[in-house]
Amino acid sequence: MITLDFSNAIAVYILFIVFTLMCVSAMRRKEKSKGLTLDPKYIWFCSVCTYNYINTKEDKISVCPRCGSYNKK
Ligand SMILES: [Zn+2]
Repeated sequence: MITLDFSNAIAVYILFIVFTLMCVSAMRRKEKSKGLTLDPKYIWFCSVCTYNYINTKEDKISVCPRCGSYNKK
């Protein structure tokens, strides 16, 4: 019975390590995707209210989320 409990404990321990590694890799993937969205060409500067915002959908003209004015690159 003691050996069975020991093997169960090892199995739980291995599962815990695998789960922790999966969490760490998922967090690293999130950090990478965050770095991609913070590309300098997606950062916009509003000339009306001097507000910095991120818009990844538009290339040439985007709407300021604060004052609603249009901004050109
Ligand atoms: Zn604005």
